[in-house]
Amino acid sequence: MARAFTKKDIETFFARLAAHMPSPRTELDYINPYTLLVAVVLSAQATDKSVNRATEPLFRIADTPEKMIRLGERRLIGFIRTIGLYRTKAKNVIALSRALIERHGGQVPHSREDLQALPGVGRKSANVVLNVAFNEPTIAVDTHVFRVANRTGIAPGKTPLDVEQGLERTVPEKYRLNAHHWLILHGRYTCTARKPLCPVCVVRDLCRYPDKTREGGPTPSSSSARAAAKRQGRPGPRSPRPRAAASRRGSR
Ligand code: SF4
Repeated sequence: MARAFTKKDIETFFARLAAHMPSPRTELDYINPYTLLVAVVLSAQATDKSVNRATEPLFRIADTPEKMIRLGERRLIGFIRTIGLYRTKAKNVIALSRALIERHGGQVPHSREDLQALPGVGRKSANVVLNVAFNEPTIAVDTHVFRVANRTGIAPGKTPLDVEQGLERTVPEKYRLNAHHWLILHGRYTCTARKPLCPVCVVRDLCRYPDKTREGGPTPSSSSARAAAKRQGRPGPRSPRPRAAASRRGSR
């Protein structure tokens, strides 16, 4: 059986992710808490990129519940039809906009219970909004966080709620606010679903996953690693120098 994580292991795990990604942030584009909520609802089973492509023109004309209702479901569909489940999502966005006006004076509520009572908003979405819009140290467990928590052994669990509660017990207070961003980004760019990039992983020595990929296995494509680094404000890896050019420079 894999060795359990000690407090020191956990501290080191998050300190490494923090050093690697000093300013983690959501990759969803938004303007205010309302547009964040809409983007999160649209992002269910869709990539952040596809959501950003759709919301860029949408939020220019509808960045409040009132404007979204004026836009109406039919025209909203015109903006989001490239996103999966767009019909249901359009209905939810209009219904939640109406609910915000009727129940919360047009503002996004700062409470998990009130958020989860809105159409199309589940626990994970509520946690994202509380964390990103209101700086609450909530941990939203999406598919990436679920995979990383289970693979590494840092907070194993059978359901997202198990993992969320395990992380809440485990993650040191000072890392709690950014924990879900670090875990999502780590899962999205390094601990990927099919071929985790274990040889370049900053927590490789701490991770308990028995099937780590080995040296000589998959390595990060420099373009995706550079793109991820750019989004997180880090210097990305340099393109490898062609052998011949490198040796010519070395011989000068
Ligand atoms: S060592 Fe591999 S499996 Fe473990 S966290 Fe890193 S990328 Fe994921």
